[in-house]
Amino acid sequence: MKKKQKFIKFLKLLCGSFFIVINVFLLAWFIGYSGPARKPQPLNDLPIIDMHCHTAGIGSNSECFISDELRKSWKINFYFKSFNSSIEELEEKGDQILLKHISDYLKESKYLDGVVILAMDGVITDGKLDKEQTEIYVPSDYVARETKKYANLYYGASINPNRPDAIERMRQAKKDGAVLMKWLPSVMFFDPSDEKYIPFYEELIKLDIPLLTHAGHERSFTLAKNELADPKKLLLPLKLGVTVIAAHIGCSGKNDGQDNMQRLIEMMDDYPNLYADISSLTQLNKLGFMSEALRTESLKGRLLYGTDFPLIETGLTHPIFHAFNLTASEIQEIQAHKNPFDQDIILKQKLGLSPDVFSRSAKLLKLD
Ligand SMILES: [Zn+2]
Repeated sequence: MKKKQKFIKFLKLLCGSFFIVINVFLLAWFIGYSGPARKPQPLNDLPIIDMHCHTAGIGSNSECFISDELRKSWKINFYFKSFNSSIEELEEKGDQILLKHISDYLKESKYLDGVVILAMDGVITDGKLDKEQTEIYVPSDYVARETKKYANLYYGASINPNRPDAIERMRQAKKDGAVLMKWLPSVMFFDPSDEKYIPFYEELIKLDIPLLTHAGHERSFTLAKNELADPKKLLLPLKLGVTVIAAHIGCSGKNDGQDNMQRLIEMMDDYPNLYADISSLTQLNKLGFMSEALRTESLKGRLLYGTDFPLIETGLTHPIFHAFNLTASEIQEIQAHKNPFDQDIILKQKLGLSPDVFSRSAKLLKLD
């Protein structure tokens, strides 16, 4: 009998604590709720292209690889799961299966028309791919070949400018249909402000290929020289006239004691050829940056829609993380979209991203 009374007392205590937690949460929401940074507007009929989407591979029927260290890490199963796949599936069906999954998602998507799949070059030492220092490698010709198989996937090349034949590779990439060039200087270990890359930049202009380059600190990789992703290092290609897209609005880390995002924003007025993508800005570790971007006048007309897929499927993004900007019914409406790309689009639309941001990627990359 005593045991039963104790149990009832424990249950009452538990219910009481739960009630207090719920109330504290509701009070915090009531005080903190500020609504979206801009009034949500309906999407228009123009095509929407996600210009920032990743793939990867373990070398199963491809030349892709991931480092041994990464392969042994817990992160990797998690990473492939976010592609709706697994190491076992890649071993059985080849690395190409990830692109099929992405294309299938797109076929089911209500809003998204196409995705740019990004290659990922590695570190180049003595003119060759340095496998010791490269964590993830996705060759450009692999992405060129595989994206051709799907009408809704586009080719984003990646060429480390330290390759002795970088310019010839870039010409080939253009012939193969590359719509942009992707760099991750902090992980590929080169300095974009080095004048020895001027011929590379001049060729980019000649071939009319925009440069999508990571700006801000990189935390997905073990080895990263973050000072190489300082937005100010992009002044050289900008002055030459390259169309530069800074990934994630450079929204993490500092250089010279100043936030990288601020360093990027103050360059916007001087360089009309500078753009920024909004991929990954809805992640839990980047809360607040989207609202800041939408309130920043000099970013008007410069933002491009991208997802950073598969990161939107890792659990780092969820509408509930934006409870201070969304109503409960909006959160429900976003969650009702089962397609990850649709969920991303509707989340960003409800947060106040205007229709022109969704359609700008297609226009800039001439895919409209
Ligand atoms: Zn990315």
